[in-house]
Amino acid sequence: MRLLSCLDRCALLGFDLWEFSLSSFFRRYGWVFLFRIVFKHPLRTFSGLLKYTRWRRGVRDHDEVLRLGASSEVGKGWLVGLGFCMKPLDCPSGRFNHDCALLSSGEAKEPCIGCRIGEVGMRALKCGADVYIMTSSEDVVYHMFVPMLEGRYRNVLLFLCPYTSKVMALPLLICGVGGMIVRYCSGYCKDYRDFLRADRGEKPEQTDISPSSEEMVERWLGG
Ligand code: SF4
Repeated sequence: MRLLSCLDRCALLGFDLWEFSLSSFFRRYGWVFLFRIVFKHPLRTFSGLLKYTRWRRGVRDHDEVLRLGASSEVGKGWLVGLGFCMKPLDCPSGRFNHDCALLSSGEAKEPCIGCRIGEVGMRALKCGADVYIMTSSEDVVYHMFVPMLEGRYRNVLLFLCPYTSKVMALPLLICGVGGMIVRYCSGYCKDYRDFLRADRGEKPEQTDISPSSEEMVERWLGG
C-alpha cells in the first residue's frame, strides 16, 4: 500500500490513482468496472485516461469543488448524485440504500429537517434533473456509468469525499460527462480502508459540505 501511495504522490506516467486502481483488481466492483466499461469501450477509456492526466494537474488538495468543463445551472439531462453518508444516522428510509422518503413521497419526518439530501434533492428535481443516492461502487457502475455511456446524462453534480472525487473523475471523463464535483468538508473517508468500509455501508459519520460550497450549489440549482 505504501509503495502504491508513493506512486500516486509522484504521479508515475502522469497518473495518480495507482493505489485505488491496483487495489481494485482484487475487488468485485473492480471487475465490474473492467468488464462493463474498460473492455467494452477501450478507445473511450484510453481517451479518458489521457484527459484525466491533463485534468488532474489543475486540481489542488484544498479545492472544494472540482470542475469537469465549465460550471453551469443544473437542468434537464443532469444527474445529481448525493452520497448515502450525507443522510442523518436516524434517516427514516435507512442509510445504506438509494431511498429518500421525502424525495419519493414528499413526506417529511423529523430527521428530514435540515437534511442536505432532502434540500438539494428537492431543488434538483424542481430543476428537472434526476437525483440518485450513491451507495456502493458496484451500484455506481450499473446505475450511473452505464447510463452515461449510453448517452442518458451529459452533466453531473456530484457530492463526494476528497479521496474518491478524483477516482470518480476518471470514469466521468471516459463517459464524456462534464459538471461539478463538490467535496465534503466533514465526516469524509480519508483513505482506501475508509472507502472500503463505506463501500459496504459501514459509515457511522455523517458527511457535509462547507458553507462556501453550499452557496455555489444554491447558484447552480437556480437559487
Ligand atoms: S430527507 Fe434526509 S432524512 Fe429524510 S428521508 Fe430523505 S435522506 Fe432520510
